[in-house]
Amino acid sequence: MESTREWAVRQDADDPLSSFRKEFELPEGLIQLNGNSLGPLPRAVPGALERAMRHQWGPRLIRAWFEDGWWEAPVRTGDRIGRLIGAAPGQTVVGESTSVQLFNAVTAAARLRPGRTVLLSDAANFPTDRYLAASVARLLGLRLTEVPPGGIGEALERHRGRVGAVLCGAVDFRTGELFDVPRLTAEIHAAGAVAVWDLSHAAGAVPVEVDAAGVDLAVGCGYKYLCGGPGAPAFLYAAARHHGALDLPVTGWHGHARPFAMEDTFVPAEGIERARTGTPHILSLLALEAALEPLEAAGVAAVRRKSLALGDQFLGLLRDLGPGAEGAPGPGPEGGVPAVEVVTPTAPERRGGHLTLRVPGAAGVSAALLERGVLTDARPPSLLRLCLNGLYVSYTDVFDTVTALRDALEVTR
Ligand SMILES: *Cc1c(COP(=O)(O)O)cnc(C)c1O
Repeated sequence: MESTREWAVRQDADDPLSSFRKEFELPEGLIQLNGNSLGPLPRAVPGALERAMRHQWGPRLIRAWFEDGWWEAPVRTGDRIGRLIGAAPGQTVVGESTSVQLFNAVTAAARLRPGRTVLLSDAANFPTDRYLAASVARLLGLRLTEVPPGGIGEALERHRGRVGAVLCGAVDFRTGELFDVPRLTAEIHAAGAVAVWDLSHAAGAVPVEVDAAGVDLAVGCGYKYLCGGPGAPAFLYAAARHHGALDLPVTGWHGHARPFAMEDTFVPAEGIERARTGTPHILSLLALEAALEPLEAAGVAAVRRKSLALGDQFLGLLRDLGPGAEGAPGPGPEGGVPAVEVVTPTAPERRGGHLTLRVPGAAGVSAALLERGVLTDARPPSLLRLCLNGLYVSYTDVFDTVTALRDALEVTR
């Protein structure tokens, strides 16, 4: 029953989130399953940019900083993203690239634990994170130790009393595995260290609760599940209890306690404002702010519920492809499709925003899927990633994707 297209069409008809699809400019005839890399264009964004240019920048020039709320945009948008990650207001700021926010967060975290000599970093993390962690370690004279998230407890024990900061990704960008943020944060705290979480693949996809989990610092990009557009500014969260001691290496006059006094030395603002730098990328910031509307209206919890349901539907249909379809890799059925291994843990509490499959020749399969109207991506050598975002992907899309996948596997075998 659940394996039919009729079932999928009925699910869509009953789905309270199905109306959010029209809030995005999705190309006709293309199923967008690549939202874990670049979220689709929200309909509200072109108008917001048009207004910012024609009604703010154009006619009001410099007055727009205060008349149109540009000055407050980094913290206003920060508070909105904060709500999506379980942060009370006044702890999140938006601006700069993910690289800069990571550099700022990791350096400030290490500076919160002077005398501790080891920086622990997630070995499976995104390259930007790993490169930045190595750079911060060189700069501060720390020893960098890279371990997979599963090895953090053991590494904290091995370097007992020496680990100052730990940088981890909440969701593995390759495998889609979701880690237990509250539990790992508690382990990190028990070792006297500070936890910095990269939420790039989690914000807007899974209900992280940074305040409740006791997270110290967090960063994330704005262009994946937040749909802020290519190169959208990134966010930085710092728990209020750290604000007074937060010594951020990248500073600017917008983060000064008295920005317009143009003083000789930097005196950080009281709260999260100290994490502001110089003049922010206002147009990109306003695009990101407008992009948040559908996600806020739907709610992360509801989007997550539907994403998991779409994942269940997908995994069920995949099983129907044949005996070799799930679990251990092996030959597919006689005359059937080649084996597909599901890499992402299938338990809902361990599944992030996307599903990752291991298929031979993943890049070719991804290209064959695109020819059949399904946009995915491949990570070499054999991983295929599919992001079933409940905000704009439908049950019918999932059914059609599995049909396309069967064809793509046949033509690429
Ligand atoms: C996407 C992503 C980033 C973004 O990195 P850029 O260098 O801004 O492209 C950083 N960290 C993680 C874990 C990511 O998934």
